[in-house]
Amino acid sequence: MNGESTPRIAASGNPASGATLKSSRDLESMREAGRIVAFAVRKAFEALEQGIATRELDDIARRAIELEGAKPGFLGLYGFPATACISINEEIVHGIPGDRVVQMGDLVTLDCGAIVDGYNSDYAVTQVAGSSSSEKNYLIDITLESLEMGIKAARPGNRVGDISNAIESHVLPKSYELVREYVGHGIGKDLHEPPQIPNFGPVGHGLELRAGMVLAIEPMVNAGGWKTRMLDDGWTVVTEDGALSCHFEHTVAITEDGPIVLTVE
Ligand code: MG
Ligand code: MG
Repeated sequence: MNGESTPRIAASGNPASGATLKSSRDLESMREAGRIVAFAVRKAFEALEQGIATRELDDIARRAIELEGAKPGFLGLYGFPATACISINEEIVHGIPGDRVVQMGDLVTLDCGAIVDGYNSDYAVTQVAGSSSSEKNYLIDITLESLEMGIKAARPGNRVGDISNAIESHVLPKSYELVREYVGHGIGKDLHEPPQIPNFGPVGHGLELRAGMVLAIEPMVNAGGWKTRMLDDGWTVVTEDGALSCHFEHTVAITEDGPIVLTVE
């Protein structure tokens, strides 16, 4: 799940300024939460095929999280009714799993979180069901590469804007656009903590990064324009022009030795 530019972060109960710093013990819990959510998303994607309903993918993710002794991080948060956000094609984020059946060639994003010892992880992956097109593969490659560039910039002494700019600098020259109304975020006991991590902006601006911060970095890349629209369900965010959208996310710890990706098995 991702932070909204305005209201929902304020609803998380955190002060408006200042990122929380995690101890090495906190990071162990977050690493376990990250491992489990990566496992859960992998298990769900192993079942991704034509004809499967998004609710079934969500059930697989929930069972995998519970099997590992963790709790789903999104279920019930702000009233969200499922374990994973599942967003297809022009859907960007916050798609609600249900009866929708996956079709061959669909661009499917699973965004999921797990809680261990009260600490959250947040992780998103986009894949194509069945055989893909070169157009979709390219969009996936560029989005994933931009996430990797953002992670590399997540170092003590850098600023939030250095992450934002690393992502933007990789995406915009490809004639893609980055979503602006939804952003990455700090993460810890709350899913959404300060600071916000926009996927665009100038270098050298924003909060200075320090060892002990943990950030959810999550480029949302549109094949068309950057504008978004929310569906009548009050959750699903789609591209205004109907173009495809792709989303990857990792939970990343900032350490003196550089960034450590926590959402890996
Ligand atoms: Mg997420
Ligand atoms: Mg997020």
